[in-house]
Amino acid sequence: MQECGVCNGWAASERPCPKCEGTMRDQGRVTDFLDDYSPYLDQKYTDLVDGDLNSSITEECVHLFVCEDCGLNDIQAT
Ligand SMILES: [Zn+2]
Ligand SMILES: [Zn+2]
Repeated sequence: MQECGVCNGWAASERPCPKCEGTMRDQGRVTDFLDDYSPYLDQKYTDLVDGDLNSSITEECVHLFVCEDCGLNDIQAT
């Protein structure tokens, strides 16, 4: 796996919310949350990995961001 700035602390762990312009905070790697969050993320997760689970998930670090203002969930590759 390539080095991830968020995991290693040198990249921003907060991102602007596209919905309410609040602050989205990093909740950790999606791969660590899959068991708990997969029911919620299934649609978007499927879109992101595009059916190619192995290359997308093992090669990139994908983080779950949650907006502290509106609760929006988003997952982004770092
Ligand atoms: Zn990471
Ligand atoms: Zn928001």
